[in-house]
Amino acid sequence: MKKHNFSAGPCILPQEVFKEASQAVLDFNNSGLSILEISHRSKDFVDVMEEARSLALELLGLEGKGYKALFLQGGASTQFLMTAYNLLQTKAGYLNTGTWSDKAIKEAKFFGEVVEIASSKDRNFNYIPKGYNIPKDLDYLHCTSNNTIFGTQIKKFPITDAPLICDMSSDIFSKQLDFSKFSLIYAGAQKNMGPAGTTLVVIKEDILGNIERKIPSMLDYQTHISKASMYNTPPVYPVYVSMLTLRWLKKLGGISAIEELNDKKANLLYSEIDLNPLFKGFAAKEDRSNMNATFTLANEDLKETFDAMWTEAGINGLNGHRSVGGYRASMYNALSMESVAVLVDIMGDLERKA
Ligand code: PMP
Repeated sequence: MKKHNFSAGPCILPQEVFKEASQAVLDFNNSGLSILEISHRSKDFVDVMEEARSLALELLGLEGKGYKALFLQGGASTQFLMTAYNLLQTKAGYLNTGTWSDKAIKEAKFFGEVVEIASSKDRNFNYIPKGYNIPKDLDYLHCTSNNTIFGTQIKKFPITDAPLICDMSSDIFSKQLDFSKFSLIYAGAQKNMGPAGTTLVVIKEDILGNIERKIPSMLDYQTHISKASMYNTPPVYPVYVSMLTLRWLKKLGGISAIEELNDKKANLLYSEIDLNPLFKGFAAKEDRSNMNATFTLANEDLKETFDAMWTEAGINGLNGHRSVGGYRASMYNALSMESVAVLVDIMGDLERKA
């Protein structure tokens, strides 16, 4: 039975990527060896790393603009501290839009003064704060473009002269932005890019080297830049699968092509949430995410029936995060329109039944 995978992450990747990736486990590049057993210093793998790094910059439109792409380990959670370790000398600003921003703030406090420039905690993070003041003397400003748990997404980024740092873990490569507005972007691979195990960091080189603190080698961006993301053994397989996904995206027409599809999928689902009286959207309408749609049942008595209906239809991963409850439909790049239509049909069927 066909599965429709709405999981928030790790999550769906393109079928053709799964096929090619599984082939490489058996025989990589007709070498007679598995990608899992070759040296990371072999030419075949160095080529993979270089292609992955350059595709990331190409798709973001950042080639030749002073940026470097790295594939690191430790998840986006390690970036919470690495960004501050490398860039926080005195004071940094953070926009608090959810659990992940909160965790980034907690780590930054180990390194200097942290100013929460705005927060949406007062309404369980169901909106993106607007109209706040940004201090002029920040080392950087950190924000989270898409709040995976709460289903909100920044549509207008803060305007500041300080370097802008963004956690794009759950919407990278999903919609077109002027990525050159950001000095540092990081994203765990396990949503739109690949399996868990690597984190993409895209960094404008000229923001580095301005702080006094000594940084341990593995946590210093300059170490990884100087060694072309191969200072230590990189996560070979996650980087390879990420490279295949980035190739897939390029072939499809890049970010603008996938954005069109993502908008169609999100519109289809949000229209149903708004029109169907049995469902209520969680996030403020103007801040809704096109990646993670959060919603609840108007009448909890229907939960058992609804859960049985979507499970029977092959839908996976629809339960909401415990801090929001209800449901969360994650519609990452590789999820088809057909899968969203299956969910919307079930929501309509529930209304007809109830
Ligand atoms: N930031 C965001 C926006 C996330 O969604 C997640 C995890 N889903 C993280 C950070 C943490 O990522 P990791 O598990 O890779 O450390």
